[in-house]
Amino acid sequence: MRVLVLGAGVVGTTSAWYLAGAGHEVVVVDRQPVAGNETSFANGGQISVSHAEPWANPHVLPQVIRWLGHEDAPLLWRWRADPAQFMWGLRFLNECRPAHTRRNMAAIVALALYSRGCLQALRRELALEYDHLERGILQFAAVTNPLKIGYSTMALIGVKADGQRIEEIARQIAAFDEVIYLTITAGAYNFLVEVTCMDNAHLLRFLTEHLYGVEGVREAETFIYLDIVKEIYAWDPQGVTGDR
Ligand SMILES: Cc1cc2nc3c(=O)[nH]c(=O)nc-3n(C[C@H](O)[C@H](O)[C@H](O)COP(=O)(O)OP(=O)(O)OC[C@H]3O[C@@H](n4cnc5c(N)ncnc54)[C@H](O)[C@@H]3O)c2cc1C
Repeated sequence: MRVLVLGAGVVGTTSAWYLAGAGHEVVVVDRQPVAGNETSFANGGQISVSHAEPWANPHVLPQVIRWLGHEDAPLLWRWRADPAQFMWGLRFLNECRPAHTRRNMAAIVALALYSRGCLQALRRELALEYDHLERGILQFAAVTNPLKIGYSTMALIGVKADGQRIEEIARQIAAFDEVIYLTITAGAYNFLVEVTCMDNAHLLRFLTEHLYGVEGVREAETFIYLDIVKEIYAWDPQGVTGDR
């Protein structure tokens, strides 16, 4: 079969290579004078097999709204009367649902593992030489302990509130600077609210002026932290991306 590959980036050139290997007659066309001169030119060079978060995920939507109108946005959406683009947008939104995101992430990892195998085989076959490391990628996450930087008072507050306006009240409480964590809960309290304050006087101001100032807050019980014994931040709690 005669195949025309449009674009000589990393995808076009490798596709052409495998197609030619499968016995097809392949022509690669590019608007640039040399191959790999656009997105594939001088990128980060990381083969991040385990970094498999799909763009379509539940957390991307607020970002996409913020990025609208920015030409340098990582995910660029230009408004135009194009039904195909509109349908693509709807499909993208559908894939942002948590169950779809998990399924897509697993599929991306499987594809990435397969692709890494292909790359390793290609390097052996063609004796491709370039500087590379295969020690995995170490990601650092710095999490500040508020107690160490002057916020000497941390507390968990159980809040009882007007049951018919739970979500609205939760949003109002979450908006306060002192609040670092808020969950809506079943049980004796409607919310568990974690706060950091400079001192007890600050906590008192938060309780009296902020928390009890929110219409619908009925009762609060405050548990002041004496020490933090365990605090973990797992990157991959479900082991979805397992491989390194
Ligand atoms: C700053 C940056 C850093 C990145 N870092 C990484 C990284 O560390 N690891 C990683 O895995 N990925 C990284 N990426 C992503 C990665 O570079 C891209 O996913 C990949 O290069 C895309 O390859 P491609 O062949 O699809 O596209 P391209 O490399 O853009 O190839 C498309 C080709 O099509 C040609 N073309 C387009 N339109 C026409 C036309 N109408 N007629 C003729 N030719 C046309 C273009 O000239 C181009 O050569 C990075 C991207 C950027 C921008």
